[in-house]
Order: sequence, then structure tokens, then C-alpha cells
Amino acid sequence: MNKLNIATIQQKIKNGELDLSESVSGYLAKIKQQQNLGAFLTVYEQSALAQAKKINDKIRRGTAGSLAGAVIALKDNIAIKRGQLSCASKIIGNYISPFEATAVNKLLAADAIIIGKTNMDEFAMGSSGENSSLFPAKNPHNPDFVPGGSSSGSTVAVAADLCNAALGSDTGGSIRQPAAFCGVYGMKPTYGRVSRYGLVAFASSLDQIGPIADSVADLAAVLQVICGNDEKDSTSAPEPVPAFDANLDESITGKTIGIPRQYLTEALQPEIRDAVESAKSRLCAGGAKVVDVELKMLDYCIAAYYIICTAEASSNLSRYDGARYGLRAENPADLDAMYTKTRVQGFGKEVKRRIMLGTYVLSAGYYDAYYRRALRARTLICRDFENAFQQCDLMLSPTTPTTAFKLGANIDDPLTMYLQDIYTVSLNLAGLPGLSIPAGKDAQGLPIGLQLIGKHFDELTLLQVARFLE
Ligand code: GLN
Repeated sequence: MNKLNIATIQQKIKNGELDLSESVSGYLAKIKQQQNLGAFLTVYEQSALAQAKKINDKIRRGTAGSLAGAVIALKDNIAIKRGQLSCASKIIGNYISPFEATAVNKLLAADAIIIGKTNMDEFAMGSSGENSSLFPAKNPHNPDFVPGGSSSGSTVAVAADLCNAALGSDTGGSIRQPAAFCGVYGMKPTYGRVSRYGLVAFASSLDQIGPIADSVADLAAVLQVICGNDEKDSTSAPEPVPAFDANLDESITGKTIGIPRQYLTEALQPEIRDAVESAKSRLCAGGAKVVDVELKMLDYCIAAYYIICTAEASSNLSRYDGARYGLRAENPADLDAMYTKTRVQGFGKEVKRRIMLGTYVLSAGYYDAYYRRALRARTLICRDFENAFQQCDLMLSPTTPTTAFKLGANIDDPLTMYLQDIYTVSLNLAGLPGLSIPAGKDAQGLPIGLQLIGKHFDELTLLQVARFLE
């Protein structure tokens, strides 16, 4: 997988060594060849080729944007104008979006080419890609294994070299966990860093759009473009966006990196623990100081997350009622029957489970026992991080407790599936940025991922450390 990065592509087009139309045709052909991986739901063949021609000229004339030459895939919960927006759910059906996500708008303004929409777990609920209502995506390193989820298709597309980079969304790990399983880079930016306008809501206080790429440089280039305050999303942050791509090579000497002691438990796959140790030695050799830190709330993260995200999802998903979008059940006896039948037919099993859990934890009798308690735990989790960051500039941890598992292995065991997210969900609860980086392979040849955890709005340090380890 020796692909050119975006800057090299631009240089080659400028020098006349590469033609963007040929390179886009190459990707289109490869997407067809690799259909068995289940990465794409829609491919924008015509518009991608038309754009390629225009952008190729712009690059030659020297008037092109920063992402000219880049071919980018979008998770199918991110809106592009006049494109499908299915969330891999039957209930949305063939809905066509009349508007565009801010992140996508920015990509297009920077002259990126959008090649298509990618497969995902329905409504971004899942850790394996198997909850897609259409077909599961498969791990390009071994198609008997899952690619992770919920940004399964976007990650597979990058790992199998079907595009230069992709956007995913991360509510509890959905960019970082598949990035770890597929051996690529995936970042969840700080909550508020990237506008959520045009991202279909799953759990609004946790959702973030982020980039997936197979080099730190490409990841930074895409991140650079999509970040920034947006008046269309009141939770997007006014913080200035630093020049990520220009500062990647800063030395790591003098940085203090914390390793949360509680994260290295017995349950962690030994090869992943070894990867943490070897990254630690390299960081020390590079002049960083590595210290142990405490994150005492680890045991409460999964419970807090699965209460808060289901509560928010049950509210967000109430808009799919058969009246406004896509699917509507036929011949209902009355209005209530229409709602019920549409939802019974349109939502998959996992989505129904989450809506039921969410309405339960928000119900009058259980609100205090579950929802309010989870919010309290969330505050303590934030404090845990604040305390740990007193002692370090960033943290290093595993991204996942195991490498990829076989398709079908955990599908009937939601708890095991939820435990996949043990190292990732706490960052969403605290709003912190996280970056999963590839860190070798296990004995079965499956990729291992490590997670870098940053302070709020400090994506830059994560990129610099990732670059050092790259
Ligand atoms: N696996 C987690 C879940 O199923 C994370 C999902 C996500 O980040 N979108 O909720």
C-alpha cells in the first residue's frame, strides 16, 4: 500500500507527470474490483470525473485549493447536496439531501473530489460494520474479519487504497476503532472543532466528524480544511485553528507523555501491550518523558456512555416517523399504526435496542437512577482527565482491547461488542481529541492501533507525536 500523499500528487500533476482524470479513473476501477469489501454504498463516477478535469487544470495553472488532487470518501451520515444520505438505514431509504454539511462544503471549496458515500453501522451504532442494513464491510487485511465500526466503509476505503482520505464520525470511537482494526490513521477532533452541521445526529453531545487517512500528512491536510467555527452549529468552537500541516515536524523533546496505568489490564491482548511498550521506548529515545498517570474512572466509562448515548439517540431518532423521510409503511389502520409499522420495518435490531434503552433511562421513574447518575459520572470522568493532564502534555493508550475479530463473532453479544469501546468512549464524554495510529501487526497479521489523547484543542501535539512515530 505505497500510495502517494496529497502533496506529492499535486506536485506530480503540476509537473505534468500525473493526470488527475487518470488517477480518478484508477480509483473508480479499483472500487469496482474491490466491491467484495463492501466499502461504498454510492459512487459518484460522473461528477468525480468531471471535477478531475477541472481541478487538473487549476493545479497546472497554480490556482487550486489545498486539497486539489485529493479523492475523498464520505461516511453516509454526512450530507452532500443532491446526494443520498442513508445512514445505512432502511428507514431513510432513498432520501436525497437538499443541503450540505459544512465540512463537505469546505472540502469542495478546497478542491477535493468526493468519490462516494461509504457503508457504516446503521445510524453509526456499532463497532464492527455488521449493523449496516445493506451488507457488512470487510477488513482489507483479511476479509473474514470485521473492519471495525461504525465508520467501517470510510476506513476500509482508505486502507484498501480506494481513495486518498475519508471522513467518518466518532461518537464513542467510530473513527479510532476501525482505524486501529484496519491499520490507518483516524482522528476524533476536540468536541466543537469541526462543525456538526449536516452530520446526522446520533448523540449530539458526543458526535464529531473527523478524518481518516493513511499518513499523518494527509490526515493533517484534511483536518486543516474541515476545522473551524461555524454559525450553523452553535456548539462549534471559536478557538483559532493552528497551521497543523506546517508544524508537523516539531521535535517531541521535552514533551511529557502519560500512560494511564488502569488501561493496561489483564484483558488487553498481549501484543497490544507490547506495542504500547515499544512506542514508549521510542518516545523516550526521542527525548520525551514518559510517566504513569491515573484514570480511575475507567470502569464507569462504558456504562455512562451507553446511558448517555442511548438517551440522546432516543430523542434524535424520534424524527424518523414515516411522515418526513424515506420509508412509510403501507396500509396502516391509522396514524399511530403508521408510526409503529414504519419504525418496526425501518429500524434494525441494534437501533431499536438503543431507542428502547434510551427511552427507559429517560423515563420518569428511572431518570435519576440512570440518566442523572451517568451525567454525574461524566463530570467525574472529565475531572479524571483534568487531573491526569496536570502531569503530562498528552497520553498514550491502546485504541482497542483486541485486534479485529471475525465477522459474526460478537454480533449476538451486545455487551462484548460494547466493551470494544472501553478506551475510546471516555474521550467523547470529556470532549477531548484522540488519534489512533497504526502500530504494527499481531501474530495473525491483523493491525494494532494505539491512541494518542490530547488536551482540548491540542490536536497539533497529537499529530506531531504521530509523525515522530510514523
Ligand atoms: N461503537 C460505539 C457505539 O456503538 C461508537 C459509535 C460511534 O462512535 N458512532 O455506540
